[in-house]
Amino acid sequence: MTREPRVTVWNEYRHEQANPVVAGIYPEGIHEALAAPLRAAGLDVATATLDEPEHGLTAARLAETDVLVWWGHKAHGEVADEVVARVHDRVLGGMGLVALHSAHFSKIFKALMGTGCDLKWREAGERERLWVVDPAHPITAGLPEMITLDQEEMYGEHFDIPPPDELFLVSWFQGGEVFRSGCTWRRGQGRIAYLRPGHETYPTYHHGEIQTLILNAVRWAAPVGAAKPTRGNQAPLEPLGN
Ligand code: ZN
Repeated sequence: MTREPRVTVWNEYRHEQANPVVAGIYPEGIHEALAAPLRAAGLDVATATLDEPEHGLTAARLAETDVLVWWGHKAHGEVADEVVARVHDRVLGGMGLVALHSAHFSKIFKALMGTGCDLKWREAGERERLWVVDPAHPITAGLPEMITLDQEEMYGEHFDIPPPDELFLVSWFQGGEVFRSGCTWRRGQGRIAYLRPGHETYPTYHHGEIQTLILNAVRWAAPVGAAKPTRGNQAPLEPLGN
């Protein structure tokens, strides 16, 4: 699309209200920290959280969303299946999805992947180096060849995802593990990006290069504006007489 995508940032918004460490890093919530740089770039951004009616993801809200950004962690199970099905339908119809960090275990990401989506993890404040392995990929625009995060949670392989259509970031962790940290898939008319960084007890979403990464992913995931394909039984387009 030529105009900027309309974005909804969805956040579970539980850690910030229960853990003073997280509240100190994200006083307005992770959703506002994610929304601010997107707004600064000129995008139209709404937010939605788990405890709103229908988790803030009404049919009307989704109809006005070109790209949905998802952050969830400890309450994946509280997301209503009906809402997950609604988001799933919108993705197949062309809405982009940017799944962040622990969204690897969200119902919507697992439904779209069709695999277990499990991984190794360790919370030890170790260094992460994210290497750009596809410098032609538009999501890497404006990034250095490597992003260093001084403290992050470790996610390690094997990450139980279907082989990504595109892999553009690989992480190294101080403890020795590696991880496919920037991946894309297509499902129906929808584009899905997974970006690993963003554990709630570290200030990852205040990091300028991570903000660029998320902005790029949102723009990449936007619908391309193709017509909705016609399916089912069809009348012939030309006379079939012999
Ligand atoms: Zn985490």
